Amino acid sequence: MKYLWLKIGILFVFVFSIAFVSLATEKGRLYYEEKGYILWDVKTEEKIIALTFDDGPHSKYTPQILDLLEEHDAKATFFVVGKQAEKFPEIILRQEAAGHEIANHTYTHPSANTPEELEAELQKTSEAIHDITGSYPLLFRPVGGSYNEEVVDIAIQNGYKVVLWSWHQDTKDWKMPGVNKIVDTVLTGAKPGNVILFHDAGGNRTQTVKALEEILPLLKQQGYTFVTVSELLDQEEMEISHQNSKTKQLEKSNFGQLDDRFVPYDFPKRP
Ligand SMILES: [Zn+2]
Repeated sequence: MKYLWLKIGILFVFVFSIAFVSLATEKGRLYYEEKGYILWDVKTEEKIIALTFDDGPHSKYTPQILDLLEEHDAKATFFVVGKQAEKFPEIILRQEAAGHEIANHTYTHPSANTPEELEAELQKTSEAIHDITGSYPLLFRPVGGSYNEEVVDIAIQNGYKVVLWSWHQDTKDWKMPGVNKIVDTVLTGAKPGNVILFHDAGGNRTQTVKALEEILPLLKQQGYTFVTVSELLDQEEMEISHQNSKTKQLEKSNFGQLDDRFVPYDFPKRP
């Protein structure tokens, strides 16, 4: 009998220590946002939005999207697949010349890889982009938006910031949900500082192009400007430093803390 209690005691300690360790190592959005390792979207009062396109370039859809962006004086960020970039360097050069941002979305778009493979994918794409444009990308979006501590560590060690998207601004255009559905998702959710997810390659993107034909003029009418992700980050930094100096002034006058920027946020897990 006394051994039974001993066994229960040991089991108890064991289970609790596992629970404690997993709680202690769990890092959520708050942690990654505060550290500046991952970007979902930014909090700003400026009516600016970052349009992002994954998986390209594509010989047909990317030029169509570039025409539309040009027509509406919009800047965007292209998370390119290195292998595709090497196939269509002229599209990458066009993106660069138009002031769009070119970012890293791995070399082969693998659904799974080891840390070593991920690092090699990042570096290969980085070199591919550098060979074409003369500059290295600063932003990385993991395949499917899936990340864990290891993925983030490798990205940071290689000089990248990880960029996801505003969770309510996932157009799921790759599923071809219909032009209206894509337009609705973006227009219903549009807020200053949003990062919107589209795909310019990886399948039939006719719906994405058609949806953009509607989205761009409508958001423009609402007063939005389309900027690259790095420009969105610059704006955020500017506002934070402005906010900090404002907070300091208010603290001096005993008004207390104003900064409510970092609010814990439960984001849905993606497949
Ligand atoms: Zn992708």
